[in-house]
Amino acid sequence: MSSTRTSLEGLPETLLMGPGPSMVHPSTLRAMAAPSLGHLDPRFLAIMDETVGMLRRVFATTNPITLPLSGTGTAGMEAALANAIEPEDRVIVVVNGYFGDRMAEMARRLGGEVDVVEVPWGKAVDPEQVEEVARRGRAPRVLAMVHAETSTGVLQPIEPLAALARQYDALLVVDAVTSLGGVPVEVDRAGVDLCYSGSQKCLSAPPGLAPFTASPRAMRRLEARKRDVFSWYLDLRLVAAYWGQQRVYHHTAPVHMVYALHRALERVLEEGLEARWQRHRRVARALWAGLEALGLQLAVTDPALRIASLTTVRVPEGVDDAGVRRTLLEEFGIEIGGGLGPWKGQVWRIGTMGESAALRHVSRLVAALGELLR
Ligand code: PLP
Repeated sequence: MSSTRTSLEGLPETLLMGPGPSMVHPSTLRAMAAPSLGHLDPRFLAIMDETVGMLRRVFATTNPITLPLSGTGTAGMEAALANAIEPEDRVIVVVNGYFGDRMAEMARRLGGEVDVVEVPWGKAVDPEQVEEVARRGRAPRVLAMVHAETSTGVLQPIEPLAALARQYDALLVVDAVTSLGGVPVEVDRAGVDLCYSGSQKCLSAPPGLAPFTASPRAMRRLEARKRDVFSWYLDLRLVAAYWGQQRVYHHTAPVHMVYALHRALERVLEEGLEARWQRHRRVARALWAGLEALGLQLAVTDPALRIASLTTVRVPEGVDDAGVRRTLLEEFGIEIGGGLGPWKGQVWRIGTMGESAALRHVSRLVAALGELLR
């Protein structure tokens, strides 16, 4: 055996406080080591049904089409847009950060006629701006937004855009990758048509699955499509035929990942959604206070717009962004994230998601940062 190969057993424990993945509870990791089952084994089918039932509760929806897609959050994004958009459809995408931009790029590749409503990084969009764009030209068929923009730390309220989507009979696509399980996401109450997340953020399962839900309205639109969904793998109707009672083989489900999500969702529901949202808020407030006490400046100035699960903080003048992150990781065993796009080198991104959202983790990080910035 090569002496340079990494020993997985020797990997150090790392406190994950970056923009994801978050810490995974030992019982969730252990769930992955449960005996392998075939993906059509009746015992696995029961685990799938339970997972779907728990996902519905976490999304606060009764949508029959609710399932974890095989793939990361980006697969959720691509599935939502690919199923909703037909070539030449008018699509409005709200862009106030890196992931909104990714949505707009995907919508373009899908042949949509994309209008971007762009606001500066660190701000939320004013629904009137969106309305103004919607009023011009053909009625939009799809309106897409990122709920919790992980690149900036801004939370975009869903309801006003949901009302607009209804008014124009457009489908509302919401990226809840960084919010689901940490910040209220109530799909039915808010009126969201297509919503996706990632297993590795506030749900605290490892990366690899994209929880997904589609409203009956979205499914009616899908049934009426003139053209097939461009992606065979992400065609919701095909995927749903496996996750639904027909059990039609589509692709081999990542069995052990589903075990992990099953256990992670159990933990979410054991804690209770309300309690979990409150914990995220409490921990975020402690983090904000700790960072400010160190003399650091939070990048999102309006506290009402901050995401409880992801905080952006300005890298102080003259401080080596990457050097601090490297030392945090190597000397203190703590991971945080750097900035993306125009905020590269300008901010650090600190995640307090799921199992990572704990006061003891915040104290450890703030103490380490204090030491490094002295
Ligand atoms: N959307 C948002 C808001 C994200 O934060 C991320 C990942 O950080 C994604 C989409 C993409 O998810 P993934 O990296 O799991 O593909």
